[in-house]
Amino acid sequence: MTSTQGVHIHPAVDHGIAKGSPGFSGGVLTCHCATNPVKVRVSAQTAHNHVCGCTKCWKPDDAVFSQIAVVSRDSVEVLEGADKLEVVDAGAAIQRHRCRECGVHMYGRIENKDHPFYGLDFVHTELSGEQGWSAPEFAAFVSSVIESGVEPSRMDGIRSRLRELGLEPYDALSPPLMDAIATSIAKRSGALPA
Ligand SMILES: [Zn+2]
Ligand SMILES: [Zn+2]
Repeated sequence: MTSTQGVHIHPAVDHGIAKGSPGFSGGVLTCHCATNPVKVRVSAQTAHNHVCGCTKCWKPDDAVFSQIAVVSRDSVEVLEGADKLEVVDAGAAIQRHRCRECGVHMYGRIENKDHPFYGLDFVHTELSGEQGWSAPEFAAFVSSVIESGVEPSRMDGIRSRLRELGLEPYDALSPPLMDAIATSIAKRSGALPA
């Protein structure tokens, strides 16, 4: 058995995972600025919450993974500090809007209507004080943490810890999300009926 002693994933899961509350209907995400923070209202429960090892998602200090969920873009509204937001990479499929002062990503949005996940925004629910958000369900892009400097020899411990937490590790997205992407592509190509 690989030791999982001292393996940190993300502050929101390192001490166990809080369950989502039935009937939960959202909250307000606040960036890390001490004054005039950016505030974004998410007025719905999130889905497909997961920890992500990619190098693009925003991570809190010292976390190896980010924690990220999706929600309908109609449910996301900037309440305060819109003038402090900037797009990290305008060429990326997901336009991540971050606070230019503290660097926290407030929401990621897909503008390409042909993208399989068009209509969904990506949000970090840990930025909200409300409890009851959907719980993380799996770990995505696990091998990618090496790209941000994690020693490959630590991967056994990291994957073991993820399994211990009930977050099945995948090196891409989870099978339901990979299937959704492939279905969208097949419907566009005509391989499946639209
Ligand atoms: Zn900020
Ligand atoms: Zn990611």
